[in-house]
Amino acid sequence: MKAILKQDSQYARSLIEASRDPLVAINAHGKITDMNEATANITGMTRKELTGTDFFDYFTEQQNAREVYQEVFSKGSVSDLPLTLRHKNGKLTDVLFNGSVYKDDGGNVLGVVIVARDVTEQKRIATELREAKVFAELATSIAEEAKHKAESATRTAESAVKAKQQFLSNMSHEIRTPMNAIIGFTKVVLKTELTEKQKEYLTAIKVSGDALIVLINDILDLAKVDAGKMVFEHTPFKMASSVAAMLHMFETKIQEKNLELVKEYDANIPEVLVGDPVRLHQIILNLVSNAVKFTSKGKITVSVKLLQQNDEQVTIEFAITDTGIGISESKMEHIFENFQQATSGTSRLYGGTGLGLAIVKQLIEPQGGTINVASKIDEGSTFSFRLNFLKTHEKAESDVEVMAIDNEICNLKVLVVEDIPLNQLLMKTLLDDFGFQPDMACNGKIAVEKLRVNSYDIILMDLQMPEMNGFEATEYIRTIMKSQVPIIALTADVTTVDLAKCKAVGMNDYIAKPVDERLLYTKMIGLVKQMKPDRIQSQPHKVSSTDDRYTNLAYLNTRTKSNPDLMMQMIGMYLDQTPPLITAMKKSFREGNWDMLHKAVHKMIPSFSIMGIDVKFENIARKVQEYAYSQSDIENLPGMVLQLETVCSQACSELKMEYNAIQTNK
Ligand code: ADP
Repeated sequence: MKAILKQDSQYARSLIEASRDPLVAINAHGKITDMNEATANITGMTRKELTGTDFFDYFTEQQNAREVYQEVFSKGSVSDLPLTLRHKNGKLTDVLFNGSVYKDDGGNVLGVVIVARDVTEQKRIATELREAKVFAELATSIAEEAKHKAESATRTAESAVKAKQQFLSNMSHEIRTPMNAIIGFTKVVLKTELTEKQKEYLTAIKVSGDALIVLINDILDLAKVDAGKMVFEHTPFKMASSVAAMLHMFETKIQEKNLELVKEYDANIPEVLVGDPVRLHQIILNLVSNAVKFTSKGKITVSVKLLQQNDEQVTIEFAITDTGIGISESKMEHIFENFQQATSGTSRLYGGTGLGLAIVKQLIEPQGGTINVASKIDEGSTFSFRLNFLKTHEKAESDVEVMAIDNEICNLKVLVVEDIPLNQLLMKTLLDDFGFQPDMACNGKIAVEKLRVNSYDIILMDLQMPEMNGFEATEYIRTIMKSQVPIIALTADVTTVDLAKCKAVGMNDYIAKPVDERLLYTKMIGLVKQMKPDRIQSQPHKVSSTDDRYTNLAYLNTRTKSNPDLMMQMIGMYLDQTPPLITAMKKSFREGNWDMLHKAVHKMIPSFSIMGIDVKFENIARKVQEYAYSQSDIENLPGMVLQLETVCSQACSELKMEYNAIQTNK
């Protein structure tokens, strides 16, 4: 029996000792009566030291421990109450307190047995989890804050870009308006009688003005390109005449620099193509003006080749080759970037801003094209680009042949809607010169009021105006007043204005400032002819049809104020230069020397209007020029060359007689 008891007691002891959690037996007075090794370890006390001591002493919150212990007595058991045990060296251990009473055979409570489970590890994990959660929340809030910051930075950047664009647009408008007036009035003064010196100075003013306008437009274009706002047109246009007109602008400059301009135009290119002629002009203009700028001797070759075609479209390669200073290998890859010039001295020597090529690239690539450069220092450069154009059966939209100004053709009533007094005056001067009757309105609202009480043949409409701008006024005229009066928009520049918007509100056409007077004249006459043919045809058409003369000195009389010496001087010049030009024209035509034919006819053209030769002959001369350039419609050339020869020879004999008559009457 004793042996069995001993065995039981050993068994119970080994169970107690096996537990890694502290296990304590406490009597009804709260004194420790027994414990396992784990209890000794967690408190740092020996079993002997522990026995008989107060159980609460080993907890950090003794009062709490006491209550828990009393709860065990009153309820019989407690479970999982959190408490903290203290080691004698101060180390704390978090435990979950479980306890239950033990009783004798008679059911009397003898004490409690407590198991304090070490939850340090769980607590650490829980703390880590909690911390991780806090961190995660913190990270989320940081990320959110960063997102907000990024969004607000984007908004700031966007509004900065908008502000920059607005600023550029306002500034360029502010600069362009007086510049246009300066250029316009300079042109007006250049047409009056001037000494050679005055002419030279005024020409310098005009050239500088033109350069400034180009610069302003460049900056504006760049802002627009940067903002991805460049919209490309899809209009049918004549490729050959478009390129010819562009190159025409460079002829004087090229001659002045003693360079040669060689044009190679592929006759297989379809006559009318669909694309953006304005941007094509801009691209060619930039590349050819660079070629001219960086070349001091030799030639500039502009070639336009049909690379490939299918039923729908053609790919055309344009190449501009010069024999100029060339570009070093290392710089070639950078010249298409904003504000990049090949050498730091370029700006000092040649001027420029390094924006041209950046814009060219931005005008080509978004249209699906490519641009390349090949160059060798001191030998020259070739800039070539490829663009696709759609084929079409439509007629070219702006198929206008620029007419010579004839101030007797008709007397159009014109309403000019323009807010800037300088521009008003300039327009008035031009229109007076055309022989038209201009009336002024300084904003859209006044224009609408004037239109209610007066009738006009045509309206020239500025776009940016106070009170009611050009778009609003046009929309009002078309939709509310139901008037179909032709309206031409006067735009500060065609590259940035929304041409689609002009068309959408019902404008018939547009013209860019500074206004090219002959283009303006042509467009005005063309539109009025379409809308009210009688307004133009009913006008007596001048000269030759009534008598058989080709010349009419009315224009020369007004321009020279009938000064006989001046008139003789002008007629003398015509008589000197015309016969050799006729010979050159015939010879070059016979020999198929198209370039020379182009040059000879080109030199003839200005004298037509001065000598009062009918504008239809001037148009024939222009056609000859165009055909010679593009080598197209060659079958029509013989008749036209013959006609020019007859007119010019006849003009010479008429003018010889006039010359003699003036001389005798002097
Ligand atoms: P800009 O002509 O206003 O300086 P561009 O962007 O048109 O600016 O040209 C960038 C640079 O590329 C020029 O400054 C010049 O150094 C070089 N470059 C461009 N075209 C030619 C060329 N035809 N011959 C030599 N260098 C050229």
